[in-house]
Amino acid sequence: MKTVMEKMRDTINEDGIRRAGEILKRGGLVAFPTETVYGLGANALDEKAAAKIYGAKGRPSDNPLIVHIADWEAIYKIAVDIPKEAKLLADAFWPGPLTMVLKKSDAVPLTTTGGLPTVAVRMPNHEIARALIRSGGGYVAAPSANTSGRPSPTKAEHVAEDMDGVIDMIIDGGDSHIGLESTIVDLTEGTPTILRPGYINQQMLEDVLGRVETDRALISEDENIRPKAPGMKYRHYAPKAELFIVEGEEQNVREKMNRLIEENKAAGRKAGVICTDESSSCYHGGIVKSIGSRADEITIAQHLYSILRDFDEMDVSVIYSESFDTPQMGQAIMNRLIKAAGHQIIKA
Ligand code: AMP
Ligand code: MG
Repeated sequence: MKTVMEKMRDTINEDGIRRAGEILKRGGLVAFPTETVYGLGANALDEKAAAKIYGAKGRPSDNPLIVHIADWEAIYKIAVDIPKEAKLLADAFWPGPLTMVLKKSDAVPLTTTGGLPTVAVRMPNHEIARALIRSGGGYVAAPSANTSGRPSPTKAEHVAEDMDGVIDMIIDGGDSHIGLESTIVDLTEGTPTILRPGYINQQMLEDVLGRVETDRALISEDENIRPKAPGMKYRHYAPKAELFIVEGEEQNVREKMNRLIEENKAAGRKAGVICTDESSSCYHGGIVKSIGSRADEITIAQHLYSILRDFDEMDVSVIYSESFDTPQMGQAIMNRLIKAAGHQIIKA
C-alpha cells in the first residue's frame, strides 16, 4: 500500500482533511496529530475498520481503543447512563488530554472496545484532529500510531518509521505538544478512578470532582496486581539497550552514573545517559542526551519517547536515566519510564 504523507504543519488544509475523512468513511486508516501523541485512526463504529487498527499495530485484540469525538453531543450515541461527573470533567478539560471510560451503547462494536462493555472517549485539543473527526463521520477510534512494543510517536516521522506502506495516510502536524498519552479516568464504578496517569493529574481531577482514586496496580510495588486498563499490563516498550533509572540525591546520582559509565567503558561497553539541561555537563564518557529543563516539565514529557527512539539507533549497550519526579506530570512521566526500564531502578 502507498501511504500518502499530507503536510499540515503551518496551516490546516481543508482539501486534505476532506480526503482523509473520505478514507475513514470507507474503512481506511489515517494517522493524525493530537496534543498528546499521534493517533492511528479508523471509523470507531465500523467493526472491520477498527479491526484493521489491531492488524496494523500488531496490537493484542483485548486491548481496547479510545474513541475520539469532536463535539460533546456526539457522546450520547456511544455511551449510556452517562454520570454527571462526565459533563463536569468535559467542561473543565475538553477538548484536552483526558479520556473517560463510560458504559458503551450498542452502536459501538466490541472490536473497538476489546470485548469490554465500556467505551473510552476523548475529545482531543488539536485543530487537525477535530477537523478530521468531523470529516470522517464523528467517531474515530485511535490508539497511538506506533507498532505495538515501540514508543508512542510524537512526530510524523516516528509514525512513518512504523506505519509507512501499512496505512492509507499520515497527516503531519508537527511535534506533539504534550508527548505522553492522555490521562484515563474510569467513571463506571463508584469513585472515579485513574487508570493511566497523564498531563491531567489526580489533584486537577479532585478539584473538579472531589474524591478520585488511582488504580492500585499503578501505585503498588506488587507487579502482579492486574491493572484495570487492559493496555497498562503490557510492558509497552523495551529499548534495545538495557535501561536503568538512577535515583537519589542529585549529587549522588551524578557520581553514581559517572562511575557506572566508567565501569562500562572499562568492560568495552558504551553507555547512554538521559539527563536534563541542568546536569548534562556533569556526565563524562558516555553518550549524553538532555531531555529538557527540570524547570519545564512539558519539555521532559515531550522528549521522552523521542529520546528512547533515538537511543535505539545508537550503538550503546546500556542507558542510565535520571528520574523525573516533576510536580504536575511526574507520575505520568515516571510511569512510562519505569515501564520502559522494566522496573530496573538503581538507588544512588
Ligand atoms: P492507546 O490508545 O495506545 O494510548 O491505548 C489506549 C489505552 O486505553 C489502553 O491502555 C487501553 O487499555 C485503555 N482503554 C481503552 N478503552 C478502555 C476501556 N473501555 N476500559 C479501560 N481501559 C480502556
Ligand atoms: Mg499506545
